[in-house]
Amino acid sequence: MVKKAVKATKGKPKTPTKYVYFFGNGKAEGKGGLKELLGGKGAGLAEMTNLSIPVPPGFTISTDACVEYIRRRRKYPPGLWDTVLKNMTRLEKTMSMGFGDPSNPLLVSVRSGARASMPGMMDTVLNLGLNDQTVQGLIKKTHNERFGCDAYRRFIAMFSTIVMDVKREVFEECLQAKKTSLGCTHDIDLNARALRELINEFKILVQRHAGRDFPQDPIDQLRMGTNAIFDSWNGDRAITYRRLYKIPDAWGTAVNIVAMVFGNMGNDSGTGVVFTRSPSSGAATLFGEFLSNAQGEDVVAGIRTPLPIAKMETAIPSAYKALTKIHRKLERHYCDMLDLEFTVQKGQLYMLQTRVGKRTGIAAVKIAVDMVKERLITKEEAVLRVEPEHLEQYLYPVFDPSAEARFTKQGKGLPAGPGAAAGKIALTPEQAIAMKAAGDRVVLVRMETSPDDIHGMSASSGFLTARGGMTSHAAVVARQMGKVCIAGCEAVEVEGDSSVRIGSARFNKGDFISINGFDGSVYEGDIPVMASEVVQVIQGTLKPEKSERYQYFSKVLQWADTFRSLDVRANADAPDQAAVARGFGAQGIGLCRTEHMFFAEGRVEIMQNMIMARTTSDRMKHLDELLPLQKQDFIGLYRKMDGYPVTIRLFDPPLHEFLPKREDLMVQVARAELTGEDPATLAKTKRMLARVDELHEFNPMLGLRGCRLGILMPEITRMQVRAIIEAACEVTKEGGNIFPEIMVPLIGTWGEMRTQKQVIQDVASQVMAEYHKVIPYQVGTMIELPRAAIMAGEIAEEAEFFSFGTNDLTQTVFGFSRDDASKIINFYMTMQDRCPHCQAMDIDQKTMVCRACGFQIAKRLDNILSGDPFTTLDQKGVGGFIEIAIERGRAARPDLKIGICGEHGGDPSSVEFCHRAGLGYVSCSPYRVPIARLAAAQAAINHGVIAERKPSARRATRPASKRGKTATRSRR
Ligand code: PEP
Ligand code: MG
Repeated sequence: MVKKAVKATKGKPKTPTKYVYFFGNGKAEGKGGLKELLGGKGAGLAEMTNLSIPVPPGFTISTDACVEYIRRRRKYPPGLWDTVLKNMTRLEKTMSMGFGDPSNPLLVSVRSGARASMPGMMDTVLNLGLNDQTVQGLIKKTHNERFGCDAYRRFIAMFSTIVMDVKREVFEECLQAKKTSLGCTHDIDLNARALRELINEFKILVQRHAGRDFPQDPIDQLRMGTNAIFDSWNGDRAITYRRLYKIPDAWGTAVNIVAMVFGNMGNDSGTGVVFTRSPSSGAATLFGEFLSNAQGEDVVAGIRTPLPIAKMETAIPSAYKALTKIHRKLERHYCDMLDLEFTVQKGQLYMLQTRVGKRTGIAAVKIAVDMVKERLITKEEAVLRVEPEHLEQYLYPVFDPSAEARFTKQGKGLPAGPGAAAGKIALTPEQAIAMKAAGDRVVLVRMETSPDDIHGMSASSGFLTARGGMTSHAAVVARQMGKVCIAGCEAVEVEGDSSVRIGSARFNKGDFISINGFDGSVYEGDIPVMASEVVQVIQGTLKPEKSERYQYFSKVLQWADTFRSLDVRANADAPDQAAVARGFGAQGIGLCRTEHMFFAEGRVEIMQNMIMARTTSDRMKHLDELLPLQKQDFIGLYRKMDGYPVTIRLFDPPLHEFLPKREDLMVQVARAELTGEDPATLAKTKRMLARVDELHEFNPMLGLRGCRLGILMPEITRMQVRAIIEAACEVTKEGGNIFPEIMVPLIGTWGEMRTQKQVIQDVASQVMAEYHKVIPYQVGTMIELPRAAIMAGEIAEEAEFFSFGTNDLTQTVFGFSRDDASKIINFYMTMQDRCPHCQAMDIDQKTMVCRACGFQIAKRLDNILSGDPFTTLDQKGVGGFIEIAIERGRAARPDLKIGICGEHGGDPSSVEFCHRAGLGYVSCSPYRVPIARLAAAQAAINHGVIAERKPSARRATRPASKRGKTATRSRR
């Protein structure tokens, strides 16, 4: 069949690819829906033409043509140039002008326009077609010598900079010298004679710097200009932008060749850029700027300060009226906030661009909600309009943007915990606590943090670490606590306990520093911050009805909740975190890391004594001391999570984390021996050192941790289960509805699960009998090891629920250490931008020569990783294990409850994977709960709501057999 079909088409003449799309006289060959082919700008121009909106005529060379041009090593595909020339002729006819005609010259703009908006990243050439003859025609036609000369000198400078690689400063210096010699301040003060002189001087400069004359043939100019736009797709700026916003290299840019209209023909002319609503607040008013008697580049270049758009009403009333009409028409047509560019030529308004406007998260939510109220879009569309990550802008304090620009940046790291924090530098947790106690704001700066820094961390507004990645200790704690964090900032060198070098500056403890957790920037000094209203409402210090921001934020999330089938829980291990999580809409706790509770004041010592104990009975004595404390913690959590499930993970970290560092103890012993210190203390330190030595492991993350600890020392599991069930019995007595889920960490085999489950059931039955209560608890496990995923069928015979611990699962599937793999991961992600010879990231993209070592790169290397798998789930690899585990687990136990509690639970694309994989819930840091709620809704909308309307969290906790068809089951 296939062969036949091939045969049948063989003889047919191939339809030539259409590369060029004309628009003009109220009709366009393209349309708004062809953004991929025509780029955003080309599609917008075509759509506006079809809507009878005044647009100067022109044509778009498609992105396909650019892709072919690049593929053919800077050569056009066959027929392209002839088609361009044919369309030029059509444009000449439409305009009744001639390209290169000295008496009636047609001038064009040549502008880039990719599928995704890449503002300012690629090039534009205006006034193309001017030469020594056509400039005379322009002057004659406009009766304005100054205007003609001004257009020509601009064109020479712009064309030579963009197309002929002459440095912009060459022309700027010459222009400045002319103004100085004539005593002028602004370009506009230069008369025609001065501009004529400048034209000659510019031409000499072109000859000197480009080694050739400025091209006088308009067709040459057109070809060179088109090439330059295609080439700008691979310019440094465009490549950096693509990397940043994950825009594929393969898309290419379109080229728009449009008849010039002039905004610099007097005071009834001008140019401007407007947004149909405020892109920063979302307010529904025309927002933007206007510059009279100016061309497009003047607005961007900041040569003169533009006026607020409202001033255009008095400057050119008729054009302003037309603009307000068009903006409404376009908004109603596109049903979105738009970014418009226009030019007014002698009172006549022309639209040069329309595209969906970029906006802040705050604006995105407001615009989406308002547009539903205005019946422009549906609630479903509103939910899809807001990027989940954008919600963070509602939650965290932010730097006052105007202030931030005034401070000196000293370094950049990974933006691990979003927000803005400014405060005094503390270099140890103790300093942080003391500074906080003295009423100071504190930023804790460390090489890296560890669990015993926790008090200092909670006393700080933010953390800055020299090492570590997005799931390092500092990063995880920051997101859980809602603190700002920059991790892995290589500019940081901590010099002992009293000073730190960051970039070019040395700071002492107590000096001010500011960290921007949205982009990883570190600044010298104290940048003022603005508080988030939403957080104030959640914390109860601001009434919801007093905050319009909160109302918008919660509205879009309420709508999201009606679409999603995934439940969203929080990772929280303290009542205050649980309260925040509930405030953000968490439907339970998906992970309570109980070991965090042991780092609280006064408990570390008990833990140390417990670890030091040599016998079980001795150890139990210390565990008995911990029991009431741990029980109190659970009571606090249950009260905040009344009616919702609380997953409590048994003790997970290696024991040595609770003991002092080996090297520190060795120093203490040596010092005490030298100085003849108190023998009792010396003996205690020696005992501690011996125990630390005994527990020492080369690879503690793969050593005595997780369930292994509970199996070796079951008394720890016993104490924790007793605390969990006793607390549940007591809160139930108060009338609470408590659903504990006891989670065993780091299971690899059925035997491990079985052994721990027996201990758990034994203690739980005992406690319930003592209290005469029945607590509907479940016992399950984390899936964090490849073996656990593969053996999920067996494990599910015992486990009543699975929770994917994707931090450890990523670590063990990849074999990357989660605490220090960021360097290699970063390297893997940037191969494409590096010189394969010297690894420098400084490659001239046009010539492909390394600027650092001069190596000529023949072929670009592929990136080994496209993203950090600790941030965004590796769907093929780690996700593959998850899918296997789900399939095998559910085959063994159809009502198996399945969730995820690794950091990926708050990452939108990972949440989407979880939806598709058929999980029942995601669990993430409290401050990421809104993001997960929105991401889950978007996943359901984009992939169809697979499940029936999601069960409520309360229902989800009831035994599945009583629930009937569950969301997760029906999804399979
Ligand atoms: C995990 O491994 O994904 C997890 C949640 O556990 P932790 O980060 O505490 O190891
Ligand atoms: Mg883990």
